[in-house]
Amino acid sequence: MFPAIAIDGPAASGKSTIARLIAQKLGYTFINTGAMYRAVTWLTLSHNISLDDTPAIIRLLASLPVEFGKKGTESIILYQGRELEEELTLPEINQNVSTIAAIPEIRALLVQRQRQYNEKEPVVMEGRDIGTVVFPKTPFKYFVTASEAVREARRKAQGLKDSIQERDRKDAKRSTAPLIQAPDALLVDTSDLTIDQVVAILIEDIQRKLIHS
Ligand code: C5P
Repeated sequence: MFPAIAIDGPAASGKSTIARLIAQKLGYTFINTGAMYRAVTWLTLSHNISLDDTPAIIRLLASLPVEFGKKGTESIILYQGRELEEELTLPEINQNVSTIAAIPEIRALLVQRQRQYNEKEPVVMEGRDIGTVVFPKTPFKYFVTASEAVREARRKAQGLKDSIQERDRKDAKRSTAPLIQAPDALLVDTSDLTIDQVVAILIEDIQRKLIHS
């Protein structure tokens, strides 16, 4: 079994930046699971399928040339052989991704893909349910958060339009795999910390646990 580092938390908490840096430091593969939910949302919208037509979305996914792959040491999503990137952060994706992510059948499909990444190698995976659902047995669980004001400011600085409060509310109240801190996750509030400080806290904990595992 390969180590799986699970990093969860609300929108704009800095998870991706932190997870990517930790993956680089450890030489593990970085997996951004939010991008997978975003890709399904983009495919659904761009094929004019209603967000509540689960069977049609599942059929669409099965029929399209979509690949959840890897480029170097990071996960990527290819559609018709082209990497999806900019389209995944469009305002309409931010607005609708939580609706797609609340559909249990879609979560089941994506969770299966997420676990496959860890079958052959160690991973640092970030999302909402990595410590609670995807890898419930991993000892490496982190819940990264920051005050709402700090998170809003971070999104603004990125120049992205994103209703993070609304997304968090929807993600936390859904019945399947809600956004919640796993009881055994280490909580890190990044509001007053630099990225380097957060990375150092997680790396220290990971290395201590690796030695004892
Ligand atoms: O991480 P990011 O903000 O890109 O995630 C986009 C959305 O994808 C979240 O708001 C949530 O609805 C969904 N998501 C999820 N479970 C994950 C990762 C993301 O439900 N593991």
